[in-house]
Amino acid sequence: MAMFDAIVIGAGMSGLYQLHKLRQLGLKVRVYEAGGDVGGTWYWNRYPGARFDSESWSYGYSFDDEVLKEWEWSEHFAAQPETLAYLNYVADKLKLRRDIRFDSRVTACAYDEAANEWEVTLEDGDTARCRFLITAVGPLSTPVWPTIPGIQDFKGESYHTATWPHHPVSFAGKRVAVIGTGATGVQTIQEVAKTAGTLTVFQRRPNWCAPLVNAKITAEEQAKIKASYPEIFARCRASHGCFIHDADPRRALEVSPQEREAFYEQRYAEPGFGIWMGNFRDIFVSREANDTISEFVARKIRERVKDPKIADKLIPKDHGFGTRRVPLETNYYEVYNQPNVTLVDIRETPIERITPAGIATSDTQRDFDMIIYATGFDAVLGGFNKMEITGLGGRTLKDKWAEGPRTYLGLQVEGFPNLFTLVGPHNAATFCNIPRCIEQNVEWVSDVLAHMQKQGLNRIAATRAAEDAWTEHVYETGQKLLFTQVDSWFMGINTNLPGRNKRTFLLYAAGAPAYRERCDEVAARGYEGFTFD
Ligand SMILES: Cc1cc2nc3c(=O)[nH]c(=O)nc-3n(C[C@H](O)[C@H](O)[C@H](O)COP(=O)(O)OP(=O)(O)OC[C@H]3O[C@@H](n4cnc5c(N)ncnc54)[C@H](O)[C@@H]3O)c2cc1C
Repeated sequence: MAMFDAIVIGAGMSGLYQLHKLRQLGLKVRVYEAGGDVGGTWYWNRYPGARFDSESWSYGYSFDDEVLKEWEWSEHFAAQPETLAYLNYVADKLKLRRDIRFDSRVTACAYDEAANEWEVTLEDGDTARCRFLITAVGPLSTPVWPTIPGIQDFKGESYHTATWPHHPVSFAGKRVAVIGTGATGVQTIQEVAKTAGTLTVFQRRPNWCAPLVNAKITAEEQAKIKASYPEIFARCRASHGCFIHDADPRRALEVSPQEREAFYEQRYAEPGFGIWMGNFRDIFVSREANDTISEFVARKIRERVKDPKIADKLIPKDHGFGTRRVPLETNYYEVYNQPNVTLVDIRETPIERITPAGIATSDTQRDFDMIIYATGFDAVLGGFNKMEITGLGGRTLKDKWAEGPRTYLGLQVEGFPNLFTLVGPHNAATFCNIPRCIEQNVEWVSDVLAHMQKQGLNRIAATRAAEDAWTEHVYETGQKLLFTQVDSWFMGINTNLPGRNKRTFLLYAAGAPAYRERCDEVAARGYEGFTFD
């Protein structure tokens, strides 16, 4: 059986950088990737309109000056093909592919206590062993199909956005249905509406969307971006979510209504997540403050959608602005002014089944040539739940996390020695301009392994006390936030998955700088909260 110092599961942004860092430590590493090539999110999500919500130039890796010098983003918010090309370029430049086995899904990982080794089993039955096991399985990598009866019966084309085919798909003249209006649904809808014969959108709950304000990067801007990478990354590092946007120090309720309105207008007209991440700091904790921005965005929706009844259906009533993931859009609301676009509110007329010809709701049957499922992911937990991970004493991770995740620093789990979980639950990376947090995660794990190498140690395990304290702290960070009062994937809720209707908490809400400080403190104190052998 093949033996490695470390096995990394996943070859997205996280797995690729982790491989590079472990090679620098001289370790023998194998990466297993379920997909046919590198890229993770950007390999799988080829749906029309897939693109960044992060500014492209704040998203790329920061660790390699040559990569920063050579790579040129063409738009402020690049589309999926460009990001996939970027990750291919990095994989080529760092010669990463030779240690990656593609089309290789890991199904089980079991800790052998006597040997202090992890045994990894692949879908094809192949096995390998390693000392250190690092999951880089992605926060949004396990697609979820809805539990509607009859999905298999449909005779037309069906696609899930997260497993979109590699060949071009035409919507021209077709009767297309899109189910789902989350971030992916919004990107898909605004693109499909350009060419479809008819487009019917099935919406269970509307989300608060805000303008992306994308543009090509001019030569002058390109030069400026390249000259200011250190400042860009320093700005990301200092902000709560590692975006270039950070909360305004003022409170919404302490400024005059005129000043507030002008500020919201400015944020609404600006590119990216400024309106979410760069808003007044009390909108996430005070319902009254949140009402001011929610009312502002609702007004914008009413201005942009001609039919007041449709506008009303597009305005969320069950949660305030920013308390769920904010989809960024380009002419999304204007789509509903097109004569060939219909919005179906499935809370009023639920989908009863998919039929061979289309979709039957409680009031009617509609026929389609194509159904697109934009029904999202089993967020953060999905990658873990898909594998049987067995730790000390035969205890599985699923069993341990049955009531919600428990971790130390979102990077280790008590009872699972030598297992590291990049971008795992309770880790700042899950609510972040993710590559900035990926780099922190990967560098922290690589440092601990370098420390162990130096000290001749070969087993690291989080203590129960450290895990309890961290888990409690994680819940405390969420307590005051309005988004812990709302059902969303941040809270581990997914109504398309059985048994996932109880709120837990998957994020670390005190922000990336606090998280980084805590991780550094733990390291500086000789990896407090861990035991070594
Ligand atoms: C449509 C979309 C848009 C996004 N836009 C942004 C954005 O603008 N800004 C931002 O910060 N984040 C964004 N994200 C989040 C995005 O997931 C992260 O930015 C980043 O790509 C995560 O990298 P990763 O390597 O951790 O995970 P992924 O890119 O998800 O890679 C994980 C890899 O692990 C593989 N894998 C999983 N399980 C197994 C297994 N059992 N065996 C073998 N391989 C396995 C998967 O196939 C996948 O290739 C977006 C996500 C989506 C879906």
